[in-house]
Amino acid sequence: MKRAILMTGDRPTGQMHLGHYVGSLKNRFAMQKDYRCFFMIADYQALTTHSDRSSDLEGYIREMVLDYLAAGFDPERSVCFLQSQVPQLAELTAIFGNLVTLPRLMRNPTIKQEIEEMGVNKRPTFGFVGYPVSQAADIVLFRPECVPMGEDQRPHMELAQEVAARFNGIYGEVFPIPEGVYGERMVGTDGRRKMSKSYGNAISLTDAPEVVEAKVGGMVTDPGRVRRSVPGRPELCSVFAYYRAFAAEQEDAVAADCRAAAVGCTDCKAGLAGVLNTFLEPFQERRAEFEKQPGLVRDILNLGGSTARIEGQRTLEQVKEVMGLRYESLLG
Ligand code: SF4
Repeated sequence: MKRAILMTGDRPTGQMHLGHYVGSLKNRFAMQKDYRCFFMIADYQALTTHSDRSSDLEGYIREMVLDYLAAGFDPERSVCFLQSQVPQLAELTAIFGNLVTLPRLMRNPTIKQEIEEMGVNKRPTFGFVGYPVSQAADIVLFRPECVPMGEDQRPHMELAQEVAARFNGIYGEVFPIPEGVYGERMVGTDGRRKMSKSYGNAISLTDAPEVVEAKVGGMVTDPGRVRRSVPGRPELCSVFAYYRAFAAEQEDAVAADCRAAAVGCTDCKAGLAGVLNTFLEPFQERRAEFEKQPGLVRDILNLGGSTARIEGQRTLEQVKEVMGLRYESLLG
């Protein structure tokens, strides 16, 4: 029986962290048994913020494939490739660019927030403002039914659905309208709503135990708990959010002890560091084993790139057919 298709991806801009794991990696790799999965490493999209650091991408890509493997990516069942290996993505982006207005792009709340975070000294490039169009092409080229992603990507998913529907409405049905599957958002160590490398509030999947201890030790807790004897409010504490995500079986006990002031924040954090290191240790061991295999990453990407190009070309042929862009009388 034909498996339904799942498509998702990541920008290779640095180390992957616990937020990636909770928000996306955990779910997507669990879904490999039911879906035919395409995992794209979006190297061109990384240039929208890293064009001055393009030579770093090669290292980040290698690290990302190793993180995928350690988190459960199965190269026997699923496809992993680079955006730059599939020129059909750029062709579809060129076509989709005419189906979205500039005001529609500028209304996107994620883009607005990202522009705000750039600060006044930086102006958004054409590539940056347009990346949701490119992302729409990335999402639909493989005609997936299911697209796991972080909650902050929801506006991009909605745009992709709109563009695909508009294309189908104008030219004919080519694209199924994919569904987004949104993962939980992991708070940062500083209490911000989102963990992100660029905020400096992330615990990386490759952090050593002492680094994890130091980062957890600096985490923001309930601001009202100014002394050990003051009862805490776990719902306001980022440490508690991590217990929820990584040790759900301890959640009730931690909350009760916190509310009764039966535990101090220092001990509570030490317990969490232990939980996270217990989670990361087998992950890092698996990763180290994959790292020892010469040519593994290269083989995965070469095979994945070739499969993705074949699938992408199949869709693009249909796109050109319904649009009347095959030019058979001119090109033979
Ligand atoms: Fe947070 Fe734990 Fe302190 Fe409660 S005891 S405020 S859950 S660190």
